[in-house]
Amino acid sequence: MSQKKRNLIERLDSGPVICAEGFLFEIEKRGYMASGEFVPMVSLENPEALENLHRDFQHAGSDIVQAFTYNGHREKMRVIGKEELLEPLNRAALKIAKKVSTSPIGKEPNLMAGNISNTNIWKQGDKKPQLEVEKMFREMVGWAVDEGADILIGETFYYAEEAYTALKVMKETGLPSVITIAPYGENIMRDGVSILDTCKELEQRGGDVVGMNCHRGPNTMLPYLKEIRKKLKCHMAGLPITYRTTDEHPTFFNLPDNNGCSCHTPHETTFPTALDPMQCSRYEIGQFAKEAYSLGINYLGVCCGANPMLIRETAEAVGLMVPASKYKENMKNHYMFGKNKRIPQHIKDYRSKA
Ligand SMILES: [Zn+2]
Repeated sequence: MSQKKRNLIERLDSGPVICAEGFLFEIEKRGYMASGEFVPMVSLENPEALENLHRDFQHAGSDIVQAFTYNGHREKMRVIGKEELLEPLNRAALKIAKKVSTSPIGKEPNLMAGNISNTNIWKQGDKKPQLEVEKMFREMVGWAVDEGADILIGETFYYAEEAYTALKVMKETGLPSVITIAPYGENIMRDGVSILDTCKELEQRGGDVVGMNCHRGPNTMLPYLKEIRKKLKCHMAGLPITYRTTDEHPTFFNLPDNNGCSCHTPHETTFPTALDPMQCSRYEIGQFAKEAYSLGINYLGVCCGANPMLIRETAEAVGLMVPASKYKENMKNHYMFGKNKRIPQHIKDYRSKA
């Protein structure tokens, strides 16, 4: 018999909650999306590929099944000339997420999340695009509610006012809201509000979970999370990208490859197609999760660069056992580096020359 489904806040009150993000990069790597353009047509064109990724993240310990509607907003659909597919795309993505969330591996159902995000048409001081954005949020949130979302996630906002607008629209539904910001390399929101003040304001305006996601790796996100945690009383979220960002290059947009690159990308930046050499190891991701959790940040995950292994690492770093834990590393039985006594000594002895 399935267990009673606890709501997001009940779960966060009792411990860590894991959320896999980063669908854009991972679906692209799996061959179902054009990089750069980044439109989540996968829910319509290859629904089984999207369901598989959700299942892989679920197996790796994601408690939340986030509908892949990132960039699936009216403006992006206009850019690619497929506005008529907007609602079918959203509903298909939400239905897939709902299906996965209601068939969990353990007893307790997962939470299905509707998702809105940065629209890239928001303009400071210009009412027209701002109203347009609000309308785009409202239609997507409406479809999410229709399709049975348990929570709503607004993410990757780099304008404070756009985040406030997203939160306002999400709160109209009465569902628990997660709202996370993604400031660029100037370390301030594009409308001039500080990262800390934006988060304080989001809490004041009723965000249930407030924090940061995307754009920044653990190194350049954690210092802000620390500062924010000291000032906020609500639950907090931290979902970095999985790349080694630095003080000089706080986000992945202009991250240089200083790792012996012998063939440069055909465009200006390593973003988004040649970031691989700057990928964090699983231990770095685990360390981030552990540190963030020790600060009292209970909503954890990873964004761009995520894969199931890194989600498992995040979950295990905060003390959880997940279905994929069955396959956590076991070097003991490695044919050369293992300590297992069946491994021949002459093979073990060769390790430093391997
Ligand atoms: Zn991301």
